[in-house]
Amino acid sequence: MIVTVDKSAGFCWGVIRTIDIAESELESLKTGEQLYVLGDIIHNPMEIERLEKRGLKTITHAELGSAKNGKVLIRAHGEPPATFDQARAMGVELVDATCPVVWKVQERIKKFYDKGFQVVIYGKKDHAEVIGLIGQTNGEAIVIKSVEEIDRLDLTRKTVLFSQTTMDKATFHALKLEMQRKIGELVVDSFEEQAKEFHAKDTICGQVFGRDKKLREYAGQNDIMIFVAGRNSSNGKVLFHICQEANPRTYFVEVASELKPEWFEGVATVGISGATSTPQWLMESIKAQIEALTVPATAAV
Ligand code: SF4
Repeated sequence: MIVTVDKSAGFCWGVIRTIDIAESELESLKTGEQLYVLGDIIHNPMEIERLEKRGLKTITHAELGSAKNGKVLIRAHGEPPATFDQARAMGVELVDATCPVVWKVQERIKKFYDKGFQVVIYGKKDHAEVIGLIGQTNGEAIVIKSVEEIDRLDLTRKTVLFSQTTMDKATFHALKLEMQRKIGELVVDSFEEQAKEFHAKDTICGQVFGRDKKLREYAGQNDIMIFVAGRNSSNGKVLFHICQEANPRTYFVEVASELKPEWFEGVATVGISGATSTPQWLMESIKAQIEALTVPATAAV
């Protein structure tokens, strides 16, 4: 059995940057100081555990005020302006490790909001990145996930559609087309030249989208696929779905203990891939565990 790890899998550069910032802050801590992170630094429990062993402490927003003996890291997903205001008011020092791609989306959303646009975000309303994006609009942005939800919008207003960076392109384009169609109908119904403006800004990150094609190819080349990601990774869910489409024999695992020997019966090639938040070391360790599972069969040959 040949087991390989997908060369294009692993941390995206935004996550690498955040981890680098965390590690360099951890190295420069003085005695008695602590580095905190507001929410899980990435959606991967194994990587969180590794960094926590080095001294990183995960806190919630409610605990922000108690983080005074050190600094508080803002993770790649970013935060709404209210968090920065709150930290300032409490005298808490922040280290902003927001991914520059997310930061740029926040900035663009704010510009449209300030010009009076109805801001619509294709995403998951409770996702940390989306909370940061909504924060740019004073909490007014409307978050939708499906074409059916378009009915919640007031399309007589000038409107802009953005996307959470880790959503899928097909749905984004379906939303864009349906919104354009409905706006077109409104113009016909009202028989007037409405000054409606509609913009669709595809802000799905290239680090996610670029993996789509490579992952499909790689998944199709293997008998079975092991997809490694944290269960609450949004990007992990999207990539897992793509992997499963290309290879129906795809199994999702978060940790090596979830591997089942029966998955590998009669299998010649196993591919291992993961989300943008899946560390390379974890995929390599899962590869080693799979190879260990097959040791008796190899010895018999
Ligand atoms: S997937 Fe893209 S937007 Fe998200 S952290 Fe990585 S580089 Fe940044």
